Amino acid sequence: MKDLYLEKDFKRGKEKTMLKLIEEVGELAEAILLEDEEKVSEEMADIIAWVFSIANLYNINLSDAFKEKYNQACPKCNKKPCICDSI
Ligand SMILES: [Zn+2]
Repeated sequence: MKDLYLEKDFKRGKEKTMLKLIEEVGELAEAILLEDEEKVSEEMADIIAWVFSIANLYNINLSDAFKEKYNQACPKCNKKPCICDSI
């Protein structure tokens, strides 16, 4: 993602890049409501791409951050699998 978009992401900035992510989340919601599985897949990929762009703007290693928070157990109940009451 850095090779593809880092320069553009810096020019756009953090706030506008966040708005792009929100836009894609809206498109995912629409695809889910329309039960368009192909579009759901595409929109999910777009969301991940924008999350990576934001991570790059903060120089965050998203893979490390994800593993640190979710690899061992649920961050709330500290169990694997999660036994939290909420769905
Ligand atoms: Zn849990």
